[in-house]
Amino acid sequence: MESKKILIIEDEKSISDIVKFNLVKEGFDVETAFDGLAGLNKALQINPDLILLDVMLPSLDGFQVCKKIRETKTTPIVMLTAKEEEVDKVLGLELGADDYITKPFGMRELIARIKANIRRTEIVDGLAGKPADIQAFGNLEIDMNRYEARKKGIALELTLREFELLKYLAERENKVFSREQLLEEVWGYEYYGDIRTVDVTVRRLREKLEDESSEPQYIMTKRGIGYYFRIP
Ligand code: CA
Repeated sequence: MESKKILIIEDEKSISDIVKFNLVKEGFDVETAFDGLAGLNKALQINPDLILLDVMLPSLDGFQVCKKIRETKTTPIVMLTAKEEEVDKVLGLELGADDYITKPFGMRELIARIKANIRRTEIVDGLAGKPADIQAFGNLEIDMNRYEARKKGIALELTLREFELLKYLAERENKVFSREQLLEEVWGYEYYGDIRTVDVTVRRLREKLEDESSEPQYIMTKRGIGYYFRIP
C-alpha cells in the first residue's frame, strides 16, 4: 500500500522533529513547514492525506491556515493546541478542523488520532459505488449508505462528523445520549478531548438542519443529560 502523506505545520523545530521521526517510523511520508504561509502553500501543492496544524505560527496563524485550506480542500486537519488555550479547540472546530490534540501530547495518542482521521476519509472515498439506503424521518431523508441528508428535497451540506452524529441519533430515535456516550460512539475511539466537541458539532448540525437553530425540532437537548433525535 502506498504510504500516507502527512504535512506538519509547526514552527517549533524540536516538536516538528520528534513528531516527524515518530511518523516516519510508523511508515508515513512526512513533509514539514515552519510558518503559516509556507504551510498553506505546501498543503495546496502536495495534497497531503492529513495535516497537523499548530495554532501559534508566524505569518499566518493556524486558524487562518485552517480557514484557507477549507475553502478548497476537505483534507483532514488535526490542530495542535496549547493546554491553556481552551478556546482554541472550539474555534478550530468551528473553522473546519476535524480534530485537535493538546500539547504536550504522547506519540501513541497522536498516532491513534492520525490513523482514526485518515480511516474516516477512506470510508467516505469508498462510498461512491454503494447503493442508496434512504430512510425518511418526517421531512428529512437520510441516505445511510452514501452519507447524504436532504430536508424537503434539499441537500444539507454536512461534514462527515455532522452526518455521523445525525445518523447515529436518528437511527435511535427518542433515545437520550450523554455527551460522553456520543464522543465514544460517534467519534469512534477513546477520545481524550472534552465534551464541548459534541456541543460544537450539535450547534453546527442544527444551523444546517433546523429552520431555527435556537428552536430545534430534530436534535433536542435533554437538560442536564444530553441530546436526542425526534421527528417533529
Ligand atoms: Ca507554535
